[in-house]
Amino acid sequence: KLEIRDVHKSYGDKVVLAGMSFDVEEHEVVCLIGPSGSGKSTLLRCIDLLDPLDSGSIHLDGVDITAKNTDANAVRRRVGIVFQSYNLFPHMSVLDNCTLGPRRALGVDRKTAEAKARELLERFGLGEKVEEYPNRISGGQNQRAAIVRALMADPEILLLDEVTSALDPELVGEVLGVIRELAGRGMTMLLATHEMGFARDVADRVCFLHEGRVLEDAAPNDLFGSPEHERTAQFLRRVR
Ligand code: ATP
Ligand code: MG
Repeated sequence: KLEIRDVHKSYGDKVVLAGMSFDVEEHEVVCLIGPSGSGKSTLLRCIDLLDPLDSGSIHLDGVDITAKNTDANAVRRRVGIVFQSYNLFPHMSVLDNCTLGPRRALGVDRKTAEAKARELLERFGLGEKVEEYPNRISGGQNQRAAIVRALMADPEILLLDEVTSALDPELVGEVLGVIRELAGRGMTMLLATHEMGFARDVADRVCFLHEGRVLEDAAPNDLFGSPEHERTAQFLRRVR
């Protein structure tokens, strides 16, 4: 379980997170929606400890991961993150991209890491692309490989930041399919998305961010069907 508690974060004078609070329960899929600049990426980066909070706290399974003495690398193994631009290393095969982290950071031997990567790549339709280099496969395949890479450490939660927004429309579906599959298997996920249809389809809860806070936190049918706040309704009218 992830607990976001009264999180504040500014860049200079710009307040981005202004007391944000919500939970992600185990096996739950929560979608963050909101206008560009509303702090979705910032929050995900803070959860993965890539950016420090100004105040507030984030607890993972009851432990404050934002406490001063935290081992950030240990937390990052428990929290997987995938960004909009897939960021595979171009000079390495898909397989090596996936096994590098576990081999380096976890001391997993090559054989074990490769067996696991092959199994995951196969599961996500990349069985034929294991030996390929990132520039020789599609954007959707790159993004699916990036998701596999994030899953290699068996994270307790997966953070996904607009993982389809850099893709050609016809490749979006295959990546959403992978996320749907993970959701079906009970993977806990927090994802920032502009794909409202997908959020409605896959999320257990949707949080609408406005002025650095969660303005509305509801089941997708409620939030999309009858938003409580005019701000939410306005946003939904604009993106539809
Ligand atoms: P989008 O939907 O466009 O991805 P977002 O909700 O993910 O937007 P963020 O990327 O979190 O929004 O950005 C929130 C605000 O913080 C923006 O105004 C952005 O310019 C600012 N910001 C983000 N990162 C930094 C940084 N490293 N330094 C300064 N300002 C930043
Ligand atoms: Mg963003």
